[in-house]
Amino acid sequence: MIEIDLSGKRYLVMGVANKRSLGWAIAEQLRKAGAELAFTYQADRLRAELEKLTANIPGTLLFQCDVTDENELDAAFSSLEESWGTLDGVVHAVAFAPRAAMEGRYIDTTREDWLTALEISAYSLVSVARKAEPLLSEEAGIVTLSYYAAEKVVPKYNVMAIAKSALEASVRYLAYELGPKGIRVNAVSAGPVRTVAARSIPGFVKLFNRFAEVAPLGRNITHEEVGHLGLFLLSPLSTGITGEVIYVDAGFHAMGMELPSE
Ligand code: NAD
Repeated sequence: MIEIDLSGKRYLVMGVANKRSLGWAIAEQLRKAGAELAFTYQADRLRAELEKLTANIPGTLLFQCDVTDENELDAAFSSLEESWGTLDGVVHAVAFAPRAAMEGRYIDTTREDWLTALEISAYSLVSVARKAEPLLSEEAGIVTLSYYAAEKVVPKYNVMAIAKSALEASVRYLAYELGPKGIRVNAVSAGPVRTVAARSIPGFVKLFNRFAEVAPLGRNITHEEVGHLGLFLLSPLSTGITGEVIYVDAGFHAMGMELPSE
């Protein structure tokens, strides 16, 4: 049996709102592999939840960091530098699109909503990678979370799909630029999972149920499966993989048109 041992390694996880967050699913697996963890949370109201989740993990660091706030980003990374000095990886599990932009037609997206979604959900990976770069050790990894709508139309996903396309392209450019230092950048493209962010997508329950009917495995995926892929991409088992988007979606993305039932 191959065991992943990350003892002595240190990871920053950004975007845990509660125990259902996909960032938490990856953090749990990193923790089980022996890693030390630091978390950032978007706003003060989310700190108590993270404190509760991490109460039994000694040495966990928590920093406030709204990714649209350059000062908070700088403060979080300089606190990390002071506390740890180096970093072995970053989990970027941050996304947001204004509700109005997810309800109507994509064509009607306002400039403001479009820019907000792209800034929080895609540009943040670029700024986080830039702030993390000086701290990242050789063979460190950055993992972000994407979704199938980056590639094909998923009605109602609207501006968030465009943000995910920009995010996936950023993964490739960041992988190219950080590769010479041995730093890898990859995306986990997860099938639908019930989280706070997912609930804000109009028609999510329908999409969730339909997904299980179409996917070759005939079911939805679990939080744990997302965590396992995140762990793999941040571990020495994946040292040859960078600039990649890997699906954990019960095979849904492999399907084309369905034949009518006989
Ligand atoms: P979630 O709501 O638990 O996590 C989203 C996180 O983004 C929250 O912690 C929120 O505080 C944070 N965030 C939003 N705006 C921010 C800002 N300005 N600054 C800092 N943090 C901010 O939901 P989730 O589903 O776990 O989402 C995590 C990632 O997984 C997202 O990128 C999402 O698009 C992606 N994803 C989710 C699914 C799904 O079905 N749940 C599928 C594929 C990809």
